[in-house]
Amino acid sequence: MQKVLYGLIELQELDNRLDELMEERGDLPLIVEDLNQKLDEKKQALEEYNNELKDSKVRVRELELIIEESKNKLEKYEEQLYQVKTNKEYDAITLETDSAKAQLEKSETELLEVTDKIENLNNKIKELEEEVEKLEAELEENTVELKSKMSATAEEENLLLQEREIILNKANPEIIKTYEMVRKARGGQGIARIQNGTCGGCYSYIPPQKVVEIKKMEKIYTCEFCGRILVWFEPNE
Ligand SMILES: [Zn+2]
Repeated sequence: MQKVLYGLIELQELDNRLDELMEERGDLPLIVEDLNQKLDEKKQALEEYNNELKDSKVRVRELELIIEESKNKLEKYEEQLYQVKTNKEYDAITLETDSAKAQLEKSETELLEVTDKIENLNNKIKELEEEVEKLEAELEENTVELKSKMSATAEEENLLLQEREIILNKANPEIIKTYEMVRKARGGQGIARIQNGTCGGCYSYIPPQKVVEIKKMEKIYTCEFCGRILVWFEPNE
């Protein structure tokens, strides 16, 4: 059991150093993740706008054709009107003319709308492209900084993780589970040393008889108040 507890003490020291290394990176990993997400969203929006723009441009060409066609028809009907011989013919051509006029008017209105939309889309796309460019620069800057911070400590981190793995392989999984759980809940500290008859984590009083037991390091004791695994360190160790 002593071995287990000394293993835990070693593990806690490793974890403390790993936490320190992570802290040195500060908010950078989060910032990079956040920027990546924003960039993805903007790029997706940009793609949607570009697709809309493409569709609108196709529609403009269609409308221009329809308008040209309607104008040609109207010209043709006007000529035909001069050669009309019967009322029936006259009525028929008038009907065709009205229909072509309505078509022309409708298409011209739509053309104006689509042209407006294209202008709007072009503005939005330009704006988004600028935002994407800015985000990409920001991301690049933060990524470089994060990478340099990571590479500065990568060697130490790898070593710590390897040592950690060795301890974990030898340890009792149940105890490690307790340790990890308490560590998570208690700001990274899964074990606490006895200090002047109190828990070094939460400073709760621990009965002398229990302190004596803990000192033997023959069994796992946890603090009744904070749950940390209690260990005995010689005061000057
Ligand atoms: Zn405690």
